[in-house]
Amino acid sequence: MDHFLYRDGRLMAEDVDLAAIASEIGTPFYCYSAATLVRHYQLFDEALSGLDHLVCFAMKSLSNLAVLKLLGDLGAGMDVVSGGEYARAKAAGVTGDRIVFSGVGKTREEMALALTGGIRQFNVESEPELRALSEVASGLGKTAPITLRVNPDVDAKTHEKIATGRKQDKFGVPIDRARDIYALAASLPGIEVVGVDVHIGSQLTSLDPFEQAYLKIAELTRQLRADGHDIRRLDLGGGLGIPYARSNEAPPLPSDYGALIKRTVGDLGCEIEIEPGRLISGNAGVLVAKVIYVKEESDRRWIIVDAAMNDMIRPAMYGAHHDVVTLIEPEAGVALEEADIVGPVCESGDTFARSRPLPPLKEGDLIAFRSAGAYGAVMSSEYNSRPLVPEVLVKGDHSAVIRPRPTIDEMLGRDTLPEWL
Ligand SMILES: *Cc1c(COP(=O)(O)O)cnc(C)c1O
Repeated sequence: MDHFLYRDGRLMAEDVDLAAIASEIGTPFYCYSAATLVRHYQLFDEALSGLDHLVCFAMKSLSNLAVLKLLGDLGAGMDVVSGGEYARAKAAGVTGDRIVFSGVGKTREEMALALTGGIRQFNVESEPELRALSEVASGLGKTAPITLRVNPDVDAKTHEKIATGRKQDKFGVPIDRARDIYALAASLPGIEVVGVDVHIGSQLTSLDPFEQAYLKIAELTRQLRADGHDIRRLDLGGGLGIPYARSNEAPPLPSDYGALIKRTVGDLGCEIEIEPGRLISGNAGVLVAKVIYVKEESDRRWIIVDAAMNDMIRPAMYGAHHDVVTLIEPEAGVALEEADIVGPVCESGDTFARSRPLPPLKEGDLIAFRSAGAYGAVMSSEYNSRPLVPEVLVKGDHSAVIRPRPTIDEMLGRDTLPEWL
């Protein structure tokens, strides 16, 4: 469910006319709905009610400070994967005791930053990382609370590039090695074992892989406790998928996911953390673009728009589908015509949709790519020297630019010429 609906024939973001934003700041731009973000966060929070829990937003999916502040003020924790994300979470007012640090390649500098600023836990992904963290923490006279990210060897049945829980994937330690590494952790200075972590992938559309993984985690928790470790926290990762195409069957609901968590690990008495990203932010955002040209040759039609793969790379990178709607509601019963929607970048991969049935479109018309809130703006770049796409946040009838479009001069001003040139 989201808050991008037609009202009087115009596509609204809550109570704000998207076309009005377009005429004010130009296109392309991302627009997020605060009500949708809040609703999705609360669905997870409610799904875990009755359990001691913390919903940590996977901020790599959408990391604008305004969005982080919105969620952080509701009590959300943050799942960060870099020093930059850690700094963003702190800048948005999230305290260290609500920040978990994930990722296979945390540097010593990043560890020191988080240890100094305060951290709920590090989700450690390898033995060398554990040893490095022990050294950094001891050197600072601190103790690093840790979970070990366990790779349960479960196939999440998702896109190859975002499956993370099979033994060939680079993430975590194999579950059959976990007890040895926990024993090592318990012996290292500056390390305090607090729990177990797992994250098997993204855009999962079935609960089965979660169930398989969580049952393995429950069993491991019992073994680790028998080994003498005080396992009091389980971080169950993120990954619940969203419906990208309205026509598709709906992925599982957060409430079903919560029930599954209670069924599989609820009896362990652990504090539960989850790290949803996409399900909170995905359908809370749209990317608005303008038609530059309509090009027709023999039997093909291309709608050339002013957004491109640098603004939203998901179709090029993952073959992702995004529903496309016009900002002016098409008349009922209008004939749809198939077309490819493409951007101006000099790569054939710069294609948002192929043979998509669309209402009639002409130069200057505005369209929106739906479900663009997650892994959209955060993955944007200035490829082709296209200024970074701006972001807008809407709440009721309020709207604000939360990251402006850089001017061409600002963009060029970041390069420096060496004196000897
Ligand atoms: C990417 C990621 C998430 C979030 O995944 P979503 O599919 O966006 O929910 C959570 N935890 C970790 C460790 C991740 O890498």
